[in-house]
Amino acid sequence: MSSRSATERRAESLPAAPFIAGSWQSASTAEAFDVVDPATERTVLMVMEADEPMVDSAVTAAHEALDNGEWGRMDGASRGQLLNALAQLIEDRTDEFADLESLDVGKPGFEPRVIDVPQAVATFRHYAGWADKLVGRSIPTPGYMGKPTLSYTIRQPIGVVAAITPWNSPTMIGAWKLAPALAAGCAVILKPPEDAPLTSFLLAQLAEQAGFPAGALSVLPGRGATTGNALIEHPGVDKISFTGSPETGRIVATAAIAGFRPVTLELGGKSPQIVFADADLDAAADGVALGIFANQGEVCAAGSRILVARSIYDEFVSALATRASKVVLGDPFDEGTTMGALINAKQLERVSRYVRIGNDEGARLVTGGNRHGSNGYFMEPTLFADVTQDMTIAREEIFGPVGAILAFDDDEHAVAIANDNPYALAATLWTSDLSRAHTVARHVHAGAVAVNGWSPLDPRLPWGGSKLSGLGRELGWAGIEACTEEKTITVVL
Ligand code: ADP
Repeated sequence: MSSRSATERRAESLPAAPFIAGSWQSASTAEAFDVVDPATERTVLMVMEADEPMVDSAVTAAHEALDNGEWGRMDGASRGQLLNALAQLIEDRTDEFADLESLDVGKPGFEPRVIDVPQAVATFRHYAGWADKLVGRSIPTPGYMGKPTLSYTIRQPIGVVAAITPWNSPTMIGAWKLAPALAAGCAVILKPPEDAPLTSFLLAQLAEQAGFPAGALSVLPGRGATTGNALIEHPGVDKISFTGSPETGRIVATAAIAGFRPVTLELGGKSPQIVFADADLDAAADGVALGIFANQGEVCAAGSRILVARSIYDEFVSALATRASKVVLGDPFDEGTTMGALINAKQLERVSRYVRIGNDEGARLVTGGNRHGSNGYFMEPTLFADVTQDMTIAREEIFGPVGAILAFDDDEHAVAIANDNPYALAATLWTSDLSRAHTVARHVHAGAVAVNGWSPLDPRLPWGGSKLSGLGRELGWAGIEACTEEKTITVVL
């Protein structure tokens, strides 16, 4: 891991501007916004925002690349080679990506090295493999007006994809959106989060180095209400892939549907971790703590509702409190740190407000609940026990290191509690009973269920939710389907 000052210098050398049609913009009329290090509250650098004319140029360049450029003519095998080359370049710079992500997001140095960057690399490699396998189907029919027919389908890129990413894991989630779209032959316009855009600049540089032709990938840094809004409203965008809050997701979905454009939305969750009495309780306590304290709890799949069988309730609450006491909260650039800073002052206030609400509504604060220090947006690992279903902290996504612990009586009760929530993204079950694991996995409302391990990420596995958690799936073959259209061709023979 590099030092903070070395990483700050690296950040300052990034081309902090829109990347359009293969070149970095330098217009002087565009506004700039600050990128702040959440651990020190210091401004790391100023970024040039993509204004409306730049959004328009990026969309035009993307269509040009598809309709008249090298990108649109490139075969799948060649696209796969480019994706593999990009994956290799990212892997070679793992430390650089990881340090920039720690500086930008506030997460401890080991996390992007173990999770975000390797997952991004694996995602590009996975989709490199799909790029030359986008096969159609041959479909037998009874014929047409007495004549035989040959009917088949081909799978074509959906066109220009707007990829809007959140600040919690911008490198990994950026890869989730870019890799399938590029494998499918779409042109992609990435709108990185204004709070954490750093690695997207490095990614664009490496994509260029890997050999992606101009216009295949553009990066438009900017705030949501300005750049993001101009992008989703642009009629030249053919598909929107968005990860973020339900409030913004609704705005994005409305714009997409108004133009009859497909949209993929991943909007977070309030995911249950269900601990049955027959579970390996040590492993469960480790996994549950990871599920709520990893990345400061700023994780869509955070296991923020901890449902515990009543017979082991007290024992498990104290095991979790022990795990919380072992969290080393501090500077993401210190070796021993296991939890870093929240992204910004607004998020610290949001999390603190939920702690106040938890206390006011009668939950029992087991540990934490306070801001840590006065410089940087650090929040203590926090656990509330004796939470009931009607409490706000059992229902709403907090997006911070705050776990709500509830008791259940039997399997049906556990499933009823798990499903009585507006979100349905993920769930984790802790049990040694095979039949129980599969039965509960089937009944719980979630796009992904894990048994005896919190959120095992893999680019081969479809990812996404329903209800307030969003629409559609990313990753695996689902990611290709979401970026392509199947065209039917019938020849009357
Ligand atoms: P948060 O409020 O925690 O920043 P958001 O869901 O608003 O979460 O942000 C996720 C992403 O959506 C960011 O890249 C942000 O800039 C973008 N965004 C926010 N508002 C809009 C909008 N109106 N249109 C398009 N993108 C937006």
